[in-house]
Amino acid sequence: MPCYRCGARQTDPVRGASPWKRGVRDESQVLICPDCQRLHDLDLDACGTCGSTALICRLGEVECRACGAVRMAHAESFAGSGAPPGLSAEVEAALNRVLGRA
Ligand SMILES: [Zn+2]
Ligand SMILES: [Zn+2]
Repeated sequence: MPCYRCGARQTDPVRGASPWKRGVRDESQVLICPDCQRLHDLDLDACGTCGSTALICRLGEVECRACGAVRMAHAESFAGSGAPPGLSAEVEAALNRVLGRA
């Protein structure tokens, strides 16, 4: 995965921790190269509890690595709640038409 901001490719880390930083932006996991980490307009998502940008995004959840707070990613918030509002009525109407009950 390249740097989300400048598109630089991550080189193989030379032993030890990679200088690249992981973050979440628009609820997507992104990587930030060492150069871009020095900028102050990274526009990363921040934890709503502690304000840290050390977040990881996975399976529709955004977890803060600083304080451990977990929240649902907005993009996934409807996935677990079944059909979106309005659909069940449409399905029911369609079924009624098929069954001749309209
Ligand atoms: Zn970069
Ligand atoms: Zn936090």
